[in-house]
Amino acid sequence: MTGTNNVDWKTLSRIYIVLLLLPVSAIAADEYARDRQQLVEEIEQSVRDTSLYLDKEELDPRVMTAIGDVPRHEFMPAAYRSLAYTNRPLPIGHGQTISQPYIVALMTDLIKPQPGDRILEIGTGSGYQAAILAELAGQVYSIEIIEALGKQAEEHLAQLGYDNITARIGDGYYGWEEHAPFDAIVVTAAASHIPPPLIRQLKPGGLMVVPVGSRFLTQQLVLVSKEPDGQLVTRQILPVRFVPLTGGHD
Ligand code: SAH
Repeated sequence: MTGTNNVDWKTLSRIYIVLLLLPVSAIAADEYARDRQQLVEEIEQSVRDTSLYLDKEELDPRVMTAIGDVPRHEFMPAAYRSLAYTNRPLPIGHGQTISQPYIVALMTDLIKPQPGDRILEIGTGSGYQAAILAELAGQVYSIEIIEALGKQAEEHLAQLGYDNITARIGDGYYGWEEHAPFDAIVVTAAASHIPPPLIRQLKPGGLMVVPVGSRFLTQQLVLVSKEPDGQLVTRQILPVRFVPLTGGHD
C-alpha cells in the first residue's frame, strides 16, 4: 500500500515540475483560445460589413489564422487584459493605444506579407502588430519613438519567442536605412503626408499602408504601391482614427 502511495507522489511531483517548466504564455494562451476565435469571427463580420470599402468579402485566411494564434492579451496592461479580445483599440499607457484588431488584420492583409519578406513597421506600441506580421513574413523591423513602450514591447515579443523581429527606439519618419529596401511598410500612427524617406526605402513592387490626415480628425487609410518602374499608385481604403506620428519632421 505504501508502495502505491509513493509511486503516486512521484508521478504527482513530476506533473508539478512539468507545469512549472511550461511558459506562462502557453497556459494562458489556452485560457483565451475561445475568446480569440470569437474575435476572428467578429473581424470576419466587420470585413463583410465594410466590403464596399475593401472591395472584397474576406481577408487572406493566413492573416485570420495569425489573429487566431497571437495572444493579444500578452501585449496589454494587466488592467485591460480581460478586454483583450474585444474588437476595440485599448490604452497601453503614455497616451498611446493598441490598434483595433480589425484594423490590424486589414493593414496586414493590404500589404500582402509573404514568408520571405522584410517588413518595416513604424510605431511598435504594444508589439502586437509586429507579432502578427512576424507570423507571416520573414523579418520584421519595428521602430518606436517612446522608449518605455518600445522596451516593453521588445520584452513581450522575446518572451513569446519571436526571434524574427528587430526593434529599436527612434523616429520612424526617417525609416531604417540600414535594413532597406523593404518589401512592405506599415505605419501605425497618423501622418500629415506620406514620409518621403519611407517611399525611398520601399522596394519597387512593394506596398505601404499608412493613415494620412489631420491628427485631430479622422484620417484616410492609404495603400501606396510602388510600381516596378518606381511610380507610385495610391488608393484610399477607408476612414480611420490613429494616434499622431510625432517626432521632429513637419
Ligand atoms: N502597432 C502598435 C500601435 C501603436 S499606436 C500596436 O500594435 O500596438 C502608434 C505608436 O506609434 C505609438 O506607440 C507611438 O508612440 C508611436 N509613434 C508615434 N510617432 C512615431 C514616430 N515618429 N516614430 C516611431 N513611432 C512613433
